[in-house]
Amino acid sequence: MKLFLLLFILLIPVATAKVVVIGMDGLGGKYITEDNAPFVTSLFKQGTYCTNVQSVLPAISASNWYSAFSGVSSKQHGVISDTKNSEYPHKTIFEKYDSSLYYTATVKPAIENHIMKGTWSLTDQGTLNKARTSQLTFVHFDYIDIYGHLFGYNSKLYNWMVKKVDKKVKTFVEKLPKETTILIMSDHGGLRKSHKEDTPEERTAFMVMVGEGIKQNNQIKEMQIYEITPMIEKALQGPTKKNIWKEGSFLHFLWERFS
Ligand SMILES: [Zn+2]
Repeated sequence: MKLFLLLFILLIPVATAKVVVIGMDGLGGKYITEDNAPFVTSLFKQGTYCTNVQSVLPAISASNWYSAFSGVSSKQHGVISDTKNSEYPHKTIFEKYDSSLYYTATVKPAIENHIMKGTWSLTDQGTLNKARTSQLTFVHFDYIDIYGHLFGYNSKLYNWMVKKVDKKVKTFVEKLPKETTILIMSDHGGLRKSHKEDTPEERTAFMVMVGEGIKQNNQIKEMQIYEITPMIEKALQGPTKKNIWKEGSFLHFLWERFS
């Protein structure tokens, strides 16, 4: 009986916080509003958010998703093209944790090979099951960016697509277990039909994080996209672990109870 009890205890998985990251590619921090993204902006009140996340340059997907998940700027990692094969000297957060990654479409080879693996199914039961069991899940929506390139960023059709993806995100998030920490973010914005230049419209993204212990209705005035990595790592440690951040780090005011 005692041996059975011991075995039972040993078989209980170690409790770790689960984090789901939802990427809304190309939804600029300058463009997200209560009108086009009613669900995502409603989370601002429930968590910590920033509509002034500074993308690394160039403000393109590969550079920025890689920075968001490796914790370093493009000056350090050197990935400055969506299509050119680059070297990826820094480990992404997905390589350190039990992760499952999902993407919609047209992710460039640079990201495909090094950040995203998985299937084309998105927000279906399979993804939900994975999100419930993996420590870290990334679900990436590419449609908003595609509409920006086709019809112009902040155009009528772009905002129509933002609304559509916002709804999709809502349906998905509402099916996740309540204790899941959720981070919704973009990688860059755009101007007219591209995002190659260094303008606030192009290089400003957004993020919102909600979950146990995370400060509510808390706006961060400005942050860098590579600061996303330590945020995710901290969330993965769950509310019982001690604060690991240096004095003065913005993360001190992100969590109410953790630090
Ligand atoms: Zn992108």
